Amino acid sequence: MVTKATSWDDDAELRACVNNAPVGERELEVDGRVVVVRVRESRRARRMRLTVGPGRAPEVVVPARTGRRAVDEFLGANRRWLADKLAVSDRPRVLPERCGAVWLAGQPVPVRHEPAGRARAALSDGHLVVGGAHPDAGAAVERWYRREARERLGRTAELEAPRLGVRFTALSVRDQRTRWGSCSRNGRLSFSWRLVLAPRFVLDYVVVHELCHVREFNHSRAFWRLVESARPEWRDAAGWLREHGHELHDYRPESALGTPAP
Ligand SMILES: [Zn+2]
Repeated sequence: MVTKATSWDDDAELRACVNNAPVGERELEVDGRVVVVRVRESRRARRMRLTVGPGRAPEVVVPARTGRRAVDEFLGANRRWLADKLAVSDRPRVLPERCGAVWLAGQPVPVRHEPAGRARAALSDGHLVVGGAHPDAGAAVERWYRREARERLGRTAELEAPRLGVRFTALSVRDQRTRWGSCSRNGRLSFSWRLVLAPRFVLDYVVVHELCHVREFNHSRAFWRLVESARPEWRDAAGWLREHGHELHDYRPESALGTPAP
């Protein structure tokens, strides 16, 4: 399966938080399970290199214009090595998929499923009430997540922008795999809806990070000074995303209703 990196509608847009977008992905069977390996091209790479780390998918860095088959052969030859590394980097999840609950700001919220109702989801009385049968009910949970994310991200951005002395012109919510947030030169912010699953301080940091780009459109020392002054504890959030970001990416909203993985 080849997944192109997300394309953006503004060429001038800063590739804010992830500089090296993957050129694709490979699925590889390792110890009886399917592992997704990101493939990233590097002009500087002279040979292929496979890396594994906590909180992210295994990645193979390949020299420019390496053929598909060469990548597959390389991964096949390194299957054992990958299996050993993954066994070490597998850790308990902090946001496990759970039937009967959704995650909101790092906390579980119980779900009440009413299959006979209309396909919609809304918070009510400490529960997420979800109407509709599968698969419409799962889609309704995702729509609710996106609405909730839009609202929480918007509220945070509106609160923080004046404190930082900046203005943003638009805010949108998407589902991109290569970055948590981005900021365009004309102040348009974009975020992954999945941030709403994470603890509040994580979402908060990503919003502040992107707002700081309105002032400093780069990752210069001045930029990080600005982040540091606004959020002295920002490393905790960045560390959380490194460690657990893959859980956000893997999360399937329909799992709250007990829908098995495809
Ligand atoms: Zn950035």
